[in-house]
Amino acid sequence: MSQNERVQEELEALEAILMDDISIIYNDQGCAELVKSTIFPSTANEVEKQYVCVTLEVQLPENYPDCKPLIKLKSPRGLDDSTVDHLYREIDKKCEEYIGQAVIYELIELIRENLTESNLPTCQCAVCLYGFSEGDCFTKTQCFHYFHNYCLAKHLIVTEKHYHEEQEKLPAWKRSTEGFQATCPVCREPISCDVHDLRSSLPPKELENAQKFELTHELKLLQENMQKLFSYQKSKGGIIDIEAEENKLLLITNSSDDPSDENSDDPGPSIPTNITEGSLENGLLKNQRCFNRFTNNR
Ligand SMILES: [Zn+2]
Ligand SMILES: [Zn+2]
Repeated sequence: MSQNERVQEELEALEAILMDDISIIYNDQGCAELVKSTIFPSTANEVEKQYVCVTLEVQLPENYPDCKPLIKLKSPRGLDDSTVDHLYREIDKKCEEYIGQAVIYELIELIRENLTESNLPTCQCAVCLYGFSEGDCFTKTQCFHYFHNYCLAKHLIVTEKHYHEEQEKLPAWKRSTEGFQATCPVCREPISCDVHDLRSSLPPKELENAQKFELTHELKLLQENMQKLFSYQKSKGGIIDIEAEENKLLLITNSSDDPSDENSDDPGPSIPTNITEGSLENGLLKNQRCFNRFTNNR
């Protein structure tokens, strides 16, 4: 069998097995020059569980397979440099071993095995700031952000609780009728996941093995310095006292002058003319009564 026939046979077999997952580029003389395939980990066709991939490019020299082909790994996704370097070394060993034989399918299988083993995103979970270790249960959101299940569940439970607390503070007519919508902690895109399912996952390994938090001398110093800075900013009017701001608003919305109130049994609150701490408190109480009356009348 001529060399070209051997290559042709190998490529036909590849096309039969991989079908659309492989592309072969021919030169002007009709000889195969380049073979390309994007490889994903084996996840039993569960595409949403494929977190990494890489494109293999095999350049076929004239005397292939009696010499090693030239290999390039392109567009690695979710793989760090050391994983890609490791792949190159493994590929080189395999090519050496297969001189004189068809090697492309062997390479694809080798890469697929490696990807399946390292099918973990190399970024961090935005909730706990730890990475993803072997055995950690994690979720890829619809917006392509990664979180440990444990962390995402905790985040969603807290945000839902906060949402209901905020709703309860609102008068009935201002409350949302749509209910709580879970959103991605990174980009705030709406996400749909089963919190109870996520909740059953174990905490991330790195979090479990992390050193316990300790208030070190350095941290105490930092706290003291920040306290000084805070006091300085406050004295210069640079800190907004949210509570005081809210009280101001309550005083402004005082509607005791409203003529519709004149026939009411309740004398209603009056605008304090001289605001001292005591009168402010008094004014707030009256405002609250006024507000209650307002919402009850609706
Ligand atoms: Zn996490
Ligand atoms: Zn997102």
